[in-house]
Amino acid sequence: MQASPPSAPITPSPHLADVRYEIRGALTRRARELESAGRAIVKLNIGNPARYGFETPAHLRQAVAAHLADSEGYGHEQGLDEAREAIAAQQRARGAQGVAVERIFVGNGVSELIDLSLRALLQPGDEVLLPSPDYPLWSAATILNGGRPRYYRCLAQNAHLPDPDELEALITPRTRALVLINPNNPTGAVYPRALLERLVAIAQRHDLLLFADEIYDEILYDEAPLQPLAEVAGAHPCLSFGGLSKVYRACGYRVGWLSLSGDPARTGTYRDALQLLAALRLCANMPAQWAVEPALNGRATIAALTAPGGRLHEARRAVMDGVAASGFLDLAAPAGALYAFPHVRAEQLPRFDDNTFALRLLEEEAVLVVPGSSFNIPASRHFRLTLLPPPVELADVFVRIERVLSRMAQE
Ligand code: PLP
Repeated sequence: MQASPPSAPITPSPHLADVRYEIRGALTRRARELESAGRAIVKLNIGNPARYGFETPAHLRQAVAAHLADSEGYGHEQGLDEAREAIAAQQRARGAQGVAVERIFVGNGVSELIDLSLRALLQPGDEVLLPSPDYPLWSAATILNGGRPRYYRCLAQNAHLPDPDELEALITPRTRALVLINPNNPTGAVYPRALLERLVAIAQRHDLLLFADEIYDEILYDEAPLQPLAEVAGAHPCLSFGGLSKVYRACGYRVGWLSLSGDPARTGTYRDALQLLAALRLCANMPAQWAVEPALNGRATIAALTAPGGRLHEARRAVMDGVAASGFLDLAAPAGALYAFPHVRAEQLPRFDDNTFALRLLEEEAVLVVPGSSFNIPASRHFRLTLLPPPVELADVFVRIERVLSRMAQE
């Protein structure tokens, strides 16, 4: 008999060794197991509005449906003309300089464009300034493209805003870019104009490309509108990201965009590199791109949800009430986006591990949240939950959270 050939395991690339995305990680897999065993899990881990009954506005659905028949072929690698014209007009109206359709890219979600724009920029060992906590795709895409994250702290005691001096001290000759997430995921912080001005001045002094992840740009609870980074940046090169996933509650359409603003003479070859990478993946999902123009030029619908009495506003209130009633938690009210990022106080619970807490909350109380350390902060005493469930459900979640924290305090 012939011996069977050796069956060596197929191993993944070492490039992935430091790549994490815990929002859909081990805890989520455990939640799925519990669900298959018949348990009802309250899922507060993903900012997916459709799952909680938030509907994509009808005029966007109609636009996609009406264009299915003429969306069967590949389209322009940078996106549908109608979509890019609407995005360029929006960016110009927000004060961005140097914007033109050839400097707009539509992608399969902002996710794809984050990866593409870092790939077009980085050489091995280049550094990118990222917020800590961050939305972890930014870290993952930096690492996957050979870069090194350098984290600037956004501490709860400073309203989750960065300290510009501390940020500037991190810059080395290898630093290429400064990423801002505003409104922020996971903290809900919204950056004031004076802070943006200081950050732009740093980018100018050190010749850093600015990235503004503004996917939550219209999800604001206190003050609107957002101060867009591109307007403050003026002639300085800036990439601004937006999309349909959050403001238009259409995550599943997979449509996001980036707009390259500032002096075109400084970013000509970088723009060409973006176009090459966009061409390599042919084009973004065509039918869904037809929703962009009606989204940007149609009725604004998110304000009804974020204003007092609106579902998201009331969800935020339920979370703040839950925190106020807790013996363990602190939270500065999120000013924007779809999340709260409570902090567990050390006085009440000196020995606290966020991963253990999140696992126990899932196993013991059937609530799925994301541990703070998943957002690239060391020794986190935070966890993140979404503001998407109905307010009464969120009130009940805080009763369950309190039960777990009380048990942990007694052990
Ligand atoms: N940026 C931030 C800050 C996010 O929170 C998300 C999704 O949660 C994304 C980008 C990706 O969005 P999408 O790929 O759906 O456009």
